[in-house]
Amino acid sequence: MVFFKIFPLRKLRFAVLIAAALVICACGMIVTLGSRPADMPDTDTLPDNIPEAGSENIGNGHSSGAQADSEEESSDVSKSTAPVRLCVIMYHGLVKNRARQNQYMIDPHFFEDDLRYLTENGYTTIVTKDLTEHFLYGKPLPEKSVMLTFDDGYYNNYLYACPLLKKYGCRAVLSPIGRACEKAENEERQDEFYSQCTIAQLGEMCESGVFELAYHTYDLHSISSGVQGVQQRPDENDADYRTRLAQDIKSFSECMSQACGDELCCFTYPFGAKSRLTDEIVRSSGFRCALDCEEKVNILDSPEELYSIHRFLRDGKTSSAEFFHKLEVMS
Ligand SMILES: [Zn+2]
Repeated sequence: MVFFKIFPLRKLRFAVLIAAALVICACGMIVTLGSRPADMPDTDTLPDNIPEAGSENIGNGHSSGAQADSEEESSDVSKSTAPVRLCVIMYHGLVKNRARQNQYMIDPHFFEDDLRYLTENGYTTIVTKDLTEHFLYGKPLPEKSVMLTFDDGYYNNYLYACPLLKKYGCRAVLSPIGRACEKAENEERQDEFYSQCTIAQLGEMCESGVFELAYHTYDLHSISSGVQGVQQRPDENDADYRTRLAQDIKSFSECMSQACGDELCCFTYPFGAKSRLTDEIVRSSGFRCALDCEEKVNILDSPEELYSIHRFLRDGKTSSAEFFHKLEVMS
């Protein structure tokens, strides 16, 4: 009775109607949040793209309208894309000779097992162009995306990785070293362990659509006096460093234009090493993204964040299921 004194019956009926309306609205909101666009997967299907709770479309009460707005404003990157959770895998070489196998040169069967695991579990391999076009132009990404990368341009990538990628309908990013590939042209016989791909082989792999080429330096892939790869030398001023790196990028582009003629989209840091100015030079040189060697899951929210895409080294010490399951549950 105390309740009715405070809350008269007429007002109670009104309150019940309001409450019912709120329940209907809330259910509607739950349905809206549950029915996601094709490029926004469930949070239990990892690793891939995950829309985060708390993003703009959640809680504004008219998600469908907000979605329409975001489609119209596809040039407004911050509003048109949801955070992307992406695992990127780093391979180097595949060799059958057991005596040559190590953490960077793994048995091809590991790579085939990885491809089988990924395809059987519904993953789609993407390349950096897919990722940048997603953030720049709103191009949808597959529901379960993963990125595979090969560093240094070994001949064994042509020999083993390329046919396996074709067999499973997968793609990968290939980051060769320009000068080493030019030198490979002069080899009489190519070896699965020692040799690099020739420019012609790179061209063949690009044309097939299996590999996307990325910059991995023309001739700066070395460690000398503590300076790794594209790092600035201690005795080098900023202007000289900019000029030296720009020249190497130009040489690489010229060398690779013979291979596929494609505009280079991605900068792959040798050894993951950089200096104070490197990131700025990479951006101003026209690259749209960069791969490093930090072993972390990527949670990408804007094109700005594409300049430090992290990668996990696949060392061939564990099974595919064990390796990928670890990444799937990692936050
Ligand atoms: Zn490398």
